[in-house]
Parts: sequence; C-alpha cells; structure tokens
Amino acid sequence: MADKANPGTLTDNSERLFSFGVIADIQYADLEDGYNFQGSRRRYYRHSLVHLQGAIEDWNKESSMPCCVLQLGDIIDGFNAQYKTSEESLEVVMNTFKMLKVPVHHTWGNHEFYNFSRDYLTRSKLNTRFLEDRIIDHPETIPSENYYAYHFVPFPKFRFILLDAYDLSVLGVDQSSPKYQQCMKILREHNPNTELNSPQGLSEPQFVQFNGGFSQEQLNWLNEVLAFSDTNQEKVVIVSHLPIYPEASDNVCLAWNYRDALAVIWSHKCVVCFFAGHTHDGGYCEDHFGVHHVNLEGVIETAPVSQAFGTVHIYPDKMVLKGRGRVPDRIMNYKKEKALNF
Ligand SMILES: [Zn+2]
Repeated sequence: MADKANPGTLTDNSERLFSFGVIADIQYADLEDGYNFQGSRRRYYRHSLVHLQGAIEDWNKESSMPCCVLQLGDIIDGFNAQYKTSEESLEVVMNTFKMLKVPVHHTWGNHEFYNFSRDYLTRSKLNTRFLEDRIIDHPETIPSENYYAYHFVPFPKFRFILLDAYDLSVLGVDQSSPKYQQCMKILREHNPNTELNSPQGLSEPQFVQFNGGFSQEQLNWLNEVLAFSDTNQEKVVIVSHLPIYPEASDNVCLAWNYRDALAVIWSHKCVVCFFAGHTHDGGYCEDHFGVHHVNLEGVIETAPVSQAFGTVHIYPDKMVLKGRGRVPDRIMNYKKEKALNF
C-alpha cells in the first residue's frame, strides 16, 4: 500500500465535466426519397425530420443534459430552392429544434447557400453568433463581420470555435461582387471542368463548387483565438461544415485550403477535436498532433430504422463520443504532449 493513489487525481480522471450533442446534414425537404448525385445512396428527405425529432427526444432525456447541440450544417436540402419551399422548410426544422431544452449552434453548409443568400442567413435564426463569448481585453479574438465564425466557452477551460468553411465560396454571394470574382478565380484556377461541381481529372479534387474555404482574415482570427487558448491552457473543439483532414474524409469533400487550416491548428497545442459534416458516410482519424477529426454520418442518408447523431462526454483526460445508429462510439484521449515543431 506504499503507492497510494492520489485521490484528487483519481477523481479528476473519472469525472465527467460536461456533454454536448452533435448532428449533421439533416437536409430536410418535404419530398419523396431520392438518391445522391452518383445514385449510390438513398436520401430520406422527409424522414430526416423524424430523425431530428428522435435525436432531440434523446438529448432531452439524457441523465446529464448536454450543454448545447452543434448542428454541423446543411439543415435543409437544396431541392427546397427549386420548389420554392426554402423558408417553409427552414421554419419546420427550426420549430422542431424549439423542443430542444438547450441552445443549438448552427453551422452553415453548401445547402444553406443553395437556399439562401449570405445576407439572408446573417439575419436568420441560423445565425447563432449572439451565443458567442466576448473577451473584452483581447479585441483580436472578436471575429469580423466578413465571415460567420465565433467562439464560446460552454465549460471553464473548454473553448469551442465555429468556423465558416464557405468564407471563400461562389455560393450565396452576389455574382457582381469582388468576393465572387475572387472566389471564382480560385475555383477556376484549380478546376478546368465546364461543370464546376465535377472533380473529374483534378489533382486536388476538393476544388469543386459545392465546397469552399477559409479566408486569410478568418485564419488570422483563428490563430489569435488559439494563441489566447494556449496561454489560458484551454482545450479547444473546432466545428465546421467541411472536413479538413484527408485521412478522415472523402477527398472530394475537403475544404479548398484545408492545409492552411491544418497549419494554423497544428501551430498550437490547444486543439483536441475537429467536428465536421458534409461527407455523409462519416469518417474519423487522429492526426499526428493529437487532433481527433470526427466527420459525422449524415442524417439525410440514414434509413428510417437507424439513427445518426451523437452525444460527446467530456472528461479531464478524454472525450467520449456516444454514437447512435450509424454513428459509432469513440474514445478520444487527449495527447499528453503535443508536438509544436514543424
Ligand atoms: Zn454539405
């Protein structure tokens, strides 16, 4: 009995600090089932709302209530624009979310921009920037209005950062604007195809119209927030519609300049996890710097008999994803020492 365990440490390591919910690619539309572009996956447009209702019922019943839910984007399907049901469908989904007892943070994906302009989204209920955390002494950690990103602290020493993966994009911006011209130039430089949604023959297949990227301005801001979190010895969870790590995603689904985002993240030791949607089959990988990349399985391609959402439980030494249905359980340990040298 000489090596008596330190009871403080023992308690810390087993204690659950807080939890949050995750859900991706609901893509609701009041339509019969269809198929994805390749015709290989069935899409349950109407049933996706039932999946969301089921997820909300589960989160509301959890023994320790999640502090919030992260909605990873593509909340309604682009087909709504065609049928002129965008506002109606958004209303239906947002009314469903009202049953949830905790706040939801909404990320914006390509389907948001198929339905709405960026200006419309900024004024809509999908803008949850009011839930952000203001660090008064550090104005450089306050995001600019030029992109939709913010950070918040749901639990002491845990900072969440929501990123705008369509900050650089030809979707949702006025075609006469300089921003559109700049983004179209980037896209065409990397994609010579007539159909810009096609990755055919591309050495960097992520350069398609349905993806986007992060501006240098947003990356500089991310860098400032991560520097602040490093100094404060916080752990950081990042959320974006688009994945940024090739080993955890279909290459055609990555953010245009995913390498730039990774370079910023890897130059700090605070980031423990990166959550994204968009790649409906899901994916996971821990990178060499100990960042866990979780790309969540999409609700839209989930059969009625199954489910697709999760609850993440946070512990002092790890995060545990409790998946439902298609979403697998995962234990994600924090790396003790993170390499900072490039
Ligand atoms: Zn998407």
